[in-house]
Amino acid sequence: MTIHHSSPSRHSDHTAHRGDGGLSLQQHAEEPYETLNLHNFEQVPQLARLPKELRDEIKVVGHVLPFKSNRYVVDHLIDWDNVPDDPMYRLTFPKREMLTPEAYARIEELVHRDAPNDEVEAAANEIRLTLNPHPAGQLDHNAPLLDGKRLPGMQHKYRETVLFFPSQGQTCHAYCTFCFRWPQFVGLEGMKFAMREATLLREYVHAHPDVSDILFTGGDPLIMKTRVLRRYVAPLLEPGAAPNIATIRIGSKALAYWPHRFVSDDDAEDLLALFREVVDSGRQLSFMAHFSHPAELETPIVREAIRLVRETGAQIRTQTPVLRHINADAPTLARMWRLQTQLGCIPYYLFVERDTGARRYFELPLVKCWEIFRDAYAAVGGNSRTVRGPSMSATPGKVQVLGVTEVAGERVIALRMLQGRNPDWVGRPFFARYSDTATWLDGLEPAFGASEFFYDAELREMLSVAGSPWSRDELSLPMANTS
Ligand SMILES: *Cc1c(COP(=O)(O)O)cnc(C)c1O
Repeated sequence: MTIHHSSPSRHSDHTAHRGDGGLSLQQHAEEPYETLNLHNFEQVPQLARLPKELRDEIKVVGHVLPFKSNRYVVDHLIDWDNVPDDPMYRLTFPKREMLTPEAYARIEELVHRDAPNDEVEAAANEIRLTLNPHPAGQLDHNAPLLDGKRLPGMQHKYRETVLFFPSQGQTCHAYCTFCFRWPQFVGLEGMKFAMREATLLREYVHAHPDVSDILFTGGDPLIMKTRVLRRYVAPLLEPGAAPNIATIRIGSKALAYWPHRFVSDDDAEDLLALFREVVDSGRQLSFMAHFSHPAELETPIVREAIRLVRETGAQIRTQTPVLRHINADAPTLARMWRLQTQLGCIPYYLFVERDTGARRYFELPLVKCWEIFRDAYAAVGGNSRTVRGPSMSATPGKVQVLGVTEVAGERVIALRMLQGRNPDWVGRPFFARYSDTATWLDGLEPAFGASEFFYDAELREMLSVAGSPWSRDELSLPMANTS
């Protein structure tokens, strides 16, 4: 394995003082991947030194919401002088405020009296079900059909893009406390999107010529060994297999949580080779990178990883929700987007924290999200203004908050869809009555006395039929019947 040395000092925006003590790239490359979970986290020195109160919070909340961190995050991304307020700490370690006081007290009591696992799990499941585990109709309304059969490992909500959840890619190198896919990590039944058959994916996209993008997602598909990932990707690259597919996307947080995946893991070179094969097939490989804080971009190894991924011809686009307690201020977002642009990444989406899981800890009023977005957007150069947001991935589509304004004497919030369950809804401005408390689309009311938004009637009709709207017409496919 070759390590290409690149000095971090080459980049100007190196501001955080984390616990990495300035590890060199070579030293980073020798670090083993070690996960932290509820059973072992107290063995790590930084956590052993934490006040008991904070360790208890991790245990209590970690019984309800998924918890997993790793040594790279702990040793290099978290500023332990600033814990518990450090944003990177809050990004992977559960906090008391992520549950309601009642839910917290209930689990705390069970944990403290060492209640049997069954009892804790039953209480945890009851609490989980109050946390809106499947927002935006993901399970019922995005599931595609092939020859009348549901393909549970896929989602097809927008005409051009199919989401694919490879069954071996349904975990991550660490869990974000804000994650909207949290139910699949706590084993809530029926909520895991997963699919074994790469052939079904190929058949499905073959049958749907409008599909130009496949997004491999999870979990994190890059948790898979390259040889496993290759099993899913390679069939699409065979001559004639998927002529409509212009872009293969991989959604991943590995650059932030385990950049060694691209630099020093045993199969790092093979992974980069696979990226090159996608590019050589004449397609774009879009690496959809989740970065939520500039600290994730500051170690020598993440910079090397970004360089190596880009060197394959892949493009890195970035996304995050705006998160209270993590990145909800314009200077932090602006610094992150500038740094991404400097490193050759393309800022893509700024999301609104979804209405699920630990939302109570992270969410902000929509108008606040917009103010932060606007201030950050105005503070960066044009090359970083590729970012779009703040955007809610809601039932009708991706709804962007354009901003607060006044129309005909009424104070309103202007909105538009960046993506729509019906593509005809995209790009049409529409208006909601001003609200400084609404945190999600369902908290907004139409402006000007209208009884509903322009898309509502059609949406109701679409939702009255099960499955993805894009897979209803085709029912007789030559290659189906394999599931
Ligand atoms: C965001 C998203 C996509 C991709 O949308 P783009 O605007 O093309 O990035 C596809 N499917 C779902 C369900 C999404 O939320």
